Amino acid sequence: MATLAPSQTAQPALKPAAPLIALEGVTKTFDLLPVLRNLTLHIGRGDFWALLGANGSGKSTLLRLIAGLGQAEGGTIRVGGWQLPREAARVRAQLGLVSHKLLLYENLTARENLRFFSRLYNLRGGAAEARIEALLARVGLARRADDPVRTFSRGMAQRLSIARALLHNPAILLLDEPYSGLDQAAAALLDALLGEAHAEGRTILMVTHEIERAARLPSHVAILARGAIAFVCPREAIPDAAWLAARYAEVTS
Ligand code: ADP
Ligand code: MG
Repeated sequence: MATLAPSQTAQPALKPAAPLIALEGVTKTFDLLPVLRNLTLHIGRGDFWALLGANGSGKSTLLRLIAGLGQAEGGTIRVGGWQLPREAARVRAQLGLVSHKLLLYENLTARENLRFFSRLYNLRGGAAEARIEALLARVGLARRADDPVRTFSRGMAQRLSIARALLHNPAILLLDEPYSGLDQAAAALLDALLGEAHAEGRTILMVTHEIERAARLPSHVAILARGAIAFVCPREAIPDAAWLAARYAEVTS
């Protein structure tokens, strides 16, 4: 085997990587009520962020803006170098969204829902069918695949919506309170799914009220308060959930 000359082994000086999701000075107002005020947030490729914040603090609004659903009055939002809202279609192709609205057709079966959304993403044929079967199994719905979604519990529909969000193998996952309505077993399944998605290199931004999970699962925690990111912390710096709960109480009081 050839050995490398010293010049070939020398590492070039690394520039800090550009954030995959970058919001600068973002302002969003509803009916003269400012919800986001000059908000700045940088999320690196492969990071897993949990976003905490009180009800009505603007978390869902922020997620929707990043998903290209809605328009900010001020500031810039870039996702993977694409500018929103101008290049929203490019961004959406890279992004899976699990929102409060589960975006499922009640009268279609679980499998039919996934087939429908596959076609929207231009996924067809054997590869698409194989991915659908694998995802149904992964979210524990293989045995209910042929039942209409209207017969599903909230937790089952939530799991199907997570499978839908993963169909097109997105680089980015946005999840808005994905643990709501899940029982212990389904929540543990979601923990595992998110851990896998993170290990696979996907970038994740998850809104949650689960302080204990936020202290444990993600790579970073942020708190939204008074329209801006009022607190950011890497997971290594969080000693335990009680500490994070105390910071949350301080920042949101
Ligand atoms: P969170 O997800 O943190 O609970 P939201 O982003 O849903 O908060 O909402 C933030 C604020 O913006 C709330 O006061 C809410 O009433 C308001 N808001 C959100 N969406 C709309 C809308 N489409 N029209 C008017 N007001 C809205
Ligand atoms: Mg919300």
